[in-house]
Amino acid sequence: MPGPPPGPGQPNPAPPQHLPPHHVPPQHIPPQHVPPGPAQPPRQVPPQRPGQPPAGRPAQPPPGAAPRGGRSGGDLTPELVETDVWTDAMVEQAGIPVVDVPFVTVGSGIGSFVTVDYLRVCGVPLDQIVVLGPQDVPWHSYEYLTRVSQIPRTERLRSDSASTPDNIWGFPSYAVREAWADKSLKPLWNVGTEPIFSNYYTPRAGHAFESMEAECNRIGYLQCLRLGQVRMIRRRAGGGYYTILTPQAAGTGVAPGTATPNQGGAQGNPQQYTTKRVAFRSQWVHVAIGYPGIKLLPDLQAFREKYRDASKVVNAYEPHETVYQALQRRPGTVMIRGAGIVASRVLQRLIDDRDALGLQTQIVHLFRTYVDKSHGPHIFARRKGKDGWAYQGFNYPKSVWGGQLKEKMRKLEGHERAAAYKQMGGTNTPVRKDWQEQLKRGRREGWYRVAVGKAESLVPGPGGQGVVATVRVDPHASITQDARPDGTFELYADYVIDCTGLEADVREHRLLADLLDHTGAGINPVGRMDVGRDFELLGCRSGNGKIYASGSATLGGYFPGVDTFLGLQIAGLEIVDDLARQGFCKKLTPWRSTRQWWRWVRGKGVD
Ligand SMILES: Cc1cc2nc3c(=O)[nH]c(=O)nc-3n(C[C@H](O)[C@H](O)[C@H](O)COP(=O)(O)OP(=O)(O)OC[C@H]3O[C@@H](n4cnc5c(N)ncnc54)[C@H](O)[C@@H]3O)c2cc1C
Repeated sequence: MPGPPPGPGQPNPAPPQHLPPHHVPPQHIPPQHVPPGPAQPPRQVPPQRPGQPPAGRPAQPPPGAAPRGGRSGGDLTPELVETDVWTDAMVEQAGIPVVDVPFVTVGSGIGSFVTVDYLRVCGVPLDQIVVLGPQDVPWHSYEYLTRVSQIPRTERLRSDSASTPDNIWGFPSYAVREAWADKSLKPLWNVGTEPIFSNYYTPRAGHAFESMEAECNRIGYLQCLRLGQVRMIRRRAGGGYYTILTPQAAGTGVAPGTATPNQGGAQGNPQQYTTKRVAFRSQWVHVAIGYPGIKLLPDLQAFREKYRDASKVVNAYEPHETVYQALQRRPGTVMIRGAGIVASRVLQRLIDDRDALGLQTQIVHLFRTYVDKSHGPHIFARRKGKDGWAYQGFNYPKSVWGGQLKEKMRKLEGHERAAAYKQMGGTNTPVRKDWQEQLKRGRREGWYRVAVGKAESLVPGPGGQGVVATVRVDPHASITQDARPDGTFELYADYVIDCTGLEADVREHRLLADLLDHTGAGINPVGRMDVGRDFELLGCRSGNGKIYASGSATLGGYFPGVDTFLGLQIAGLEIVDDLARQGFCKKLTPWRSTRQWWRWVRGKGVD
């Protein structure tokens, strides 16, 4: 049964459309357009002079472009799609309205939010910033992903007490705030004794969302938001960039031209765009667009495509509550693939249901790599491991965010950097006592079994019931497994839950692919977007303009912890430092920082 509609500022219960299965690039969105304030008003201006049509037109218009010939009535023309550097006249000829604003951030997720937070703290007025993206609140997509992967608001996240996306200073930390709110010393005792005598303290998901909401309101973030999908960012002749937004018609979830106007919209959206595209002309652009989409393991994807059956094989980032409900109606076997925190959470959910509802669920956990002991190149770079899992508090060693690894990685280039990533990377999960106890019990009672190997194929089970996986046994695994003479064995399950992750290939994202093909961006030593130490997207300079990027798309750069709250904040700080050097914002001096922190403490807006 569908739940009630979300209230103001609440995420929609529906999954964001940007995470469809099978490598489909993002699309989405709810609408909002707030007119900019007075200081340097973004305005719709007629471009200056008609430009020359580019040479070498292909016979057919490229995808996403309007038909050839004449003004396109506000849509992309073949000329624009094919041209790397645009003149103002080309945009005018296309009939695309132009909005001038110095700084544009693309994504509207947590990466955009923390960057805007820094800019506001560094004195940038609201009318100098535009946020383009599909999220009505910055944690919308994140909350969807955590919720479906079994971290609802009441459960704890992975990052630590001081990873506070609502508070650039990290103090008071989540533990201090929780202790204060609950009038309890327990969270403080936890952070004082971790990680030796207790597991790392981590905040509840709901705590993070509520505190981001308060900061959103404090800095006026939502006033900068223009909802829609960015199609491309191109260099502008004369400097800066054009960022092309496909806005959403208010209240409809679809692009203008296909929508009935004035059906209402997201809060505070008094204005609608009437053209299919809007061009934001800016000196700086920041790109934080998260992951390109959901990725299924190849054999699981092949099964879904061949048998057109998505009910038995799901990705943990897809809504899959139906699996848990079906297990309540009829006992069944679930195969888990993956050994990261999402696998841990899904296992916990299955076992919690088993315990609370007296279910008979059987679990078979297929590991690709089975870790049974501490591992690492030397005694000072070791990670614990046992029972198949690699254990680590956070996704990288803690010193990447502010210790010796951060310092070391800043100096590494090319192969050396790629090798360092390989050494400290790898799937891991935190040690948590409740998970350990549950799995120990499962092994003892025989309802949690493990297998190790490479799944080669997946077919429907006998009589169409469940699925059968053919697995090539891993001869190096430290557990004994029976296999057929050809080195394979079969595993039966009613459902498979793929907990291996999200799509990381930057080429799968249309906007990133366009930046690589047309705006000069390059690939770093681990295959993602190449950024400098200050998070400038290298190769994309345009006159006095710069593009910055942060988040998962930039993994492999000089700073490894990019795809985390703290990493997004560190990137935000580097970016505003660079912008301060260029005169866009004030420098975050100790005096300014202290004064602004005191305002944060009192809930007063920035000044
Ligand atoms: C399940 C899960 C749990 C995590 N837990 C933690 C944790 O506990 N602690 C921690 O520090 N980190 C955690 N992370 C990592 C990270 O902090 C989050 O993923 C965070 O949301 C990343 O922020 P982002 O802005 O880069 O991406 P997002 O918050 O995903 O925002 C990116 C936005 O860009 C939009 N977008 C994409 N394409 C376009 C386009 N063409 N035009 C406009 N917009 C576009 C997307 O729709 C999306 O809304 C977790 C990640 C996941 C997936």
